[in-house]
Amino acid sequence: MKAIETINLSFTYPDGTKALENVNLTIEKGEKVAILGPNGAGKSTLIYHFNGLLMPTSGKVKVLGREVSKENIDFIRQKVGLVFQNPDDQVFAPTVFQDVAFGPINLGLPEDEVKRRVKWALEVMELNEVEDKPPHRLSHGQKKRVAIAGVLAMHPEIIALDEPTANLDPKAVSKILELLLKLNKELNATLIIATHDVDFVPLCSDKVCILNRGELILEGSPGEVFSNTEKLRRMDLRLPRIGHLFEILKVRDNLPIENPLPLTIGEARREIHRLIKHKTSINNDL
Ligand code: ADP
Repeated sequence: MKAIETINLSFTYPDGTKALENVNLTIEKGEKVAILGPNGAGKSTLIYHFNGLLMPTSGKVKVLGREVSKENIDFIRQKVGLVFQNPDDQVFAPTVFQDVAFGPINLGLPEDEVKRRVKWALEVMELNEVEDKPPHRLSHGQKKRVAIAGVLAMHPEIIALDEPTANLDPKAVSKILELLLKLNKELNATLIIATHDVDFVPLCSDKVCILNRGELILEGSPGEVFSNTEKLRRMDLRLPRIGHLFEILKVRDNLPIENPLPLTIGEARREIHRLIKHKTSINNDL
């Protein structure tokens, strides 16, 4: 089942800036998809189309098979939750609890259902202890989690996040990653992550779409996409650090590294063990 489909999607801002050009993209239900590209590539513009915040200049966007249009907007907004880059654009109520309750109250849900959803969303995002705090007293990472909890309380099937790691320290990045993976695994939420953080991509996604100057340039698993090293460099992108290290070991040091290049610590560890075994078996044969 397709969660999102864009068909020849193009978008031009009122000042004439062409931000998306003929984008054809399919995201299946339950997938974790990273939209990767340099600044200005059109990532935010693309994900804003997924919940009807922007409407195509030409082409179509479909969510769970239904076209994004003014008539369908309530359905679309309920199915697709959008988490903005800056939580200060999204989090504004006097307390964390009230903030997360804002969406469900607007849906017109009964009070006990609102309470139940808020408690649940706060628990999933590990924020119960700060539910009575004013959001502006929280760390940036906690505020991001409040913004995600606000979206979760609407029970969306698809969650699109704009630069979820921006301005976070390493510990907060790990926490967001852990929680996003939990949303995908335990709630089967489809995740769409717009980011320019190449190191985050192989950790958070099973599919990567590379956007450059409004065009979809590459699409595939992280291993497939990051094997296009030269193409990526021409777009001012680089390999994840671990991939870069293994590229050097392969190309400059002639080590028998297998494709695709390892991109995460887990993949690197497996490849190092394979290399050691390979070397031992060669030595045993001599
Ligand atoms: P990204 O999220 O990849 O950094 P954006 O989607 O924000 O890229 O921007 C894509 C292009 O559209 C850029 O050239 C940007 O300057 C332009 N753009 C973004 N928002 C607006 C706007 N409101 N008005 C005009 N141009 C815009």
